[in-house]
Amino acid sequence: MSDKNYSFFGAVEKSFDKAAKFTKWEKGILEQIKACNAVYQMRFPIKRDDGSIEVIEAYRVQHSQHKTPCKGGIRFAAEVNQDEVMALASLMTYKCAIVNVPFGGGKGGIKVNPRKYSAYELEKITRRYTAELIKKNFIGPGTDVPAPDYGSGEREMAWIVDTYTAMHPGEIDAAGCVTGKPVSQGGVRGRREATGLGVFFGVREVCNMPDVMQKLGMTVGVEGKKIVVQGLGNVGYHTAKFFQDAGAKIIALAEYEGSVTNSAGLDVDEVFNHRKSTGSILNFPGATNLAKNTDALELECDILIPAALENVIDGDNAPRVKAKLIGEAANGPLTPEADEVFAQKGIVVIPDMYLNAGGVTVSYFEWLKNLSHVRYGRMEKRFNENLNAQILGQIEGLTGKKVADRDREYIVHGADEVDLVYSGLEETMIGATHEIMNEWKNNPAIPDMRTAAYVVAINKVATTYAELGIFP
Ligand code: NAD
Repeated sequence: MSDKNYSFFGAVEKSFDKAAKFTKWEKGILEQIKACNAVYQMRFPIKRDDGSIEVIEAYRVQHSQHKTPCKGGIRFAAEVNQDEVMALASLMTYKCAIVNVPFGGGKGGIKVNPRKYSAYELEKITRRYTAELIKKNFIGPGTDVPAPDYGSGEREMAWIVDTYTAMHPGEIDAAGCVTGKPVSQGGVRGRREATGLGVFFGVREVCNMPDVMQKLGMTVGVEGKKIVVQGLGNVGYHTAKFFQDAGAKIIALAEYEGSVTNSAGLDVDEVFNHRKSTGSILNFPGATNLAKNTDALELECDILIPAALENVIDGDNAPRVKAKLIGEAANGPLTPEADEVFAQKGIVVIPDMYLNAGGVTVSYFEWLKNLSHVRYGRMEKRFNENLNAQILGQIEGLTGKKVADRDREYIVHGADEVDLVYSGLEETMIGATHEIMNEWKNNPAIPDMRTAAYVVAINKVATTYAELGIFP
């Protein structure tokens, strides 16, 4: 689907302008919201394992400082370019606003295919990139806080926090300079699966809306729904897994080498392990291979979840998509032309900038944990368990009946870190889904859910600017 002239940032601007018409803000404020405040493009050398020297191209974009720190992942991919990083940074601003995370949008990109570098080379690249950010004050718990994105994960975040801490001796909040860290390095339990879990919570909430389901000709709830997921990385794998655990049927999974399908349902872990051991998703026992990874996007299904990269559904293949509901787990998987096709066909698209906000929401929890220097639940877990056991004992004494062991365990259990993180995320995603849907319902002229989400985001960011009152 790649189109050389396609501008991802242009697509974000187009969606923004479409939504701005439904707001009351003056042109100047809208222009300020849309613009990327700071773009840092850098080049630095690294020595490869064979002794050669390679110059690496990388970026960090701070789209908005209406709230600080800026927040957004770092992408490691051969296709990274300034336009893409600008688009992803602006999506972060709108995403944070929608889910009430008090950050401005940011994003980083390093133009390397991580599969073509050794772990040692990647460590050198990541540490040097961090050093470049430090030199320009583009990283820090109060200024700009990166996180994982496509091609990066806990390992890279550990290198970043280690480099930052080494260069800021004695800075007590240094661990808050990056999120998505391993738990042993100040990470929070539940961050790894957070984006996928947020995607699941968001889609589930839409599936629980009887009016929306009726319009789409589907039954209420996710149980039994036929799902196709593209991309079996961090976001795709966890999304697929949470749907499977909730009783949905994963009928196809796509990776860049191809896709596999089975109308009876695929076991996500088995496919994942098959790919790990054979190096390919193809030839999974009992499943049918599809020649191209994009073929899976066009299968008959209820819900399609693109969870790989941007620009995979455009005006060309959108008419062939048969899903009734599309959940954008990846950032920017649909072009504005695809949006038009789906709006006309009555297909509901749950937009990226709020649906995949689980990662940044839990990153916010991680950052708060780092600043408070204490694990969630540490102070109250035991207290609550003792109290619950007391209350249960009293009830049993008064009624003369015994509560079953399984129920006792559930009632007495005090929340630990992962329980609190999951519950905070569930609350966030449910709240945001209703806020966007209400905006859409209250203004029937709004053509789709993406536009409604942008309206919500624009109103929140503009209110902050308006309340600041002055522009320097
Ligand atoms: P990842 O690197 O863990 O996984 C991406 C997967 O997609 C890889 O397995 C890759 O092989 C596969 N892939 C690449 N091209 C493909 C294609 N054409 N067809 C099928 N599969 C393909 O990355 P991730 O962190 O899961 O990110 C995926 C998307 O989600 C990106 O758009 C990212 O910006 C977005 N996102 C990620 C997070 C996060 O917390 N990681 C948060 C919000 C949004």
